[in-house]
Amino acid sequence: MILLNNDIKIQAFTTKDCLLEQKKNEFLASLYEKNFQAAELIFMDILKLAQNQSEFSENFEKRLNQIQTIFKKFKHALFKHCSSEIKKNHDCLKKMILASIKHSSDSIGHVNFQTWETKLDLKPCQKNLLFQTAMTFQLTSGCSNFCRRCNEWALPKVRRHFSFNAILTILNHMADQKNDEISLYGASDPLDWTAGDKALPDIIEYLKKLPLEYSLLTKVPKGKRHLLKLLLKNHSNLSVSITSKNKKRIKQIEQEIDTPISKQHDLEELLIPAGLDEDFISIKPSITDGYGTEITPDGAFIIIPCFTSALYPFGHKKIPVTSNTRFFPVKKTGRQALLVDYFKPLEGYDLNKSRCHLSALLDVQIESVILDNGTDQLTPPGMRSLKEFLSIFEEKARCQRKKMTPSIMKKLKQRFLATTCFKKLSKKNKNLFLKKIAGHLKLCKQKHCVSARLYAVSFFLESIRQYIPTHSVNVKIMRFLLKNEIQYVFNLTDTLIADQSLDKVLTDPDVDVFYAFRFYVFCLLTESDDRAILEFIQTYPAAYDPEADIFVLRSFSN
Ligand code: SF4
Repeated sequence: MILLNNDIKIQAFTTKDCLLEQKKNEFLASLYEKNFQAAELIFMDILKLAQNQSEFSENFEKRLNQIQTIFKKFKHALFKHCSSEIKKNHDCLKKMILASIKHSSDSIGHVNFQTWETKLDLKPCQKNLLFQTAMTFQLTSGCSNFCRRCNEWALPKVRRHFSFNAILTILNHMADQKNDEISLYGASDPLDWTAGDKALPDIIEYLKKLPLEYSLLTKVPKGKRHLLKLLLKNHSNLSVSITSKNKKRIKQIEQEIDTPISKQHDLEELLIPAGLDEDFISIKPSITDGYGTEITPDGAFIIIPCFTSALYPFGHKKIPVTSNTRFFPVKKTGRQALLVDYFKPLEGYDLNKSRCHLSALLDVQIESVILDNGTDQLTPPGMRSLKEFLSIFEEKARCQRKKMTPSIMKKLKQRFLATTCFKKLSKKNKNLFLKKIAGHLKLCKQKHCVSARLYAVSFFLESIRQYIPTHSVNVKIMRFLLKNEIQYVFNLTDTLIADQSLDKVLTDPDVDVFYAFRFYVFCLLTESDDRAILEFIQTYPAAYDPEADIFVLRSFSN
């Protein structure tokens, strides 16, 4: 089933945090353009937005921290080119953030289930989907470690916890919805969690009764050694994230308990600081390894991984789950998430819990398509880049695919006919089985391979073309982040690519299709002459066929 994107409220600006994210981007874009007058006015808007909040939500404060980090990076230019007001406004915002840290960490509250549920205001079907697709359950807001290696931009100091009963209730709901695995951390350290005389081992003890696997990742906050030892003694599923700060401490604990501790990030190259050291000029891989939802004491969010950049310093897009949410992505974590092609319309559930696909890419996916420069540094092993995807249509790949037909057929039979015969398959599965076979055979034929490539490119270019007029601020940011590549591609592009029709270029065996694709993306991004692109898109109107998993001629129905 295909769900039209405009049927779902997934990208709407619904919260103050989303508004602040927009302001952060406007501030950044004005700085990239060296328009300091505009930057000063936008910074004032940001301050007003902050002053109008009686209390900062977790994500609101994270964005303010991002804005202050941007300010720091451009401080000299701002002080030089703006009025003296800018310094006053910056100091004022700094004071407000410090006051917020003090206020919320001095009066650490506990969020009970009813408060959290009332604030979210979801219908039962939305709640069920939220619990079914949850991948992260953040027990606490704020983090006592506050290390700089945090792509989550965790807030300094613990602010709020879920109550013990709220946690048990949410875990029960997840188990009822057949969610089978949950990470008990996010922008927090799970060992920070406490409620009265309860601590993390009590939650882990309760989890033993539920058909729900869990994972814990901790940096072992100061004063929590005893909890770590207790959890290790109970064989809890726990890993310790190593930093230069805790390395010595963890080694000591290991010697004391005489048991090896499962460690993560214990590599010299991972001792590089992240988070607060974001440079706002580079594009880096995402460190978010999952599609799904995140539950925090403040609410719930849909998480879509994306490249880590000035646009998305978290390495993912957080879309608030609200009473308007009508689509939840299928939960995919770890290796399964790496297998998701980020440039295809997402698979998820509608409110009837039916599996469906969106008809178009989300904005954040389009931004990833634009930012994906095809280098290995951007693509972790196991993830497919757009460059790799476009190479599957090349002759060499087609011939290899053709050779693999017997083993592909075997796999499809194993998937569909392992316990039954074709005749007994449901109508839906019969269709799917035949479509999968047809899809594979099509991509073995040269003619179809060529057209699949044209439709794929047309789909991406059309997505970008539609996105650009309504996202001028983000476009400016991407133009800045990509300026070296744009210059390189425009300087080197020979007139053969620039002056020929797109279908000719894209079917020429001597042309590097990904390179040509980047050229067209940059023509759209820099609002150069796009008549040839438009003509191509109109000649090859494209849609994604989720069953055959290829891009095809768009029919009237989609
Ligand atoms: S990386 Fe972990 S320990 Fe460090 S600040 Fe973020 S949540 Fe806290």
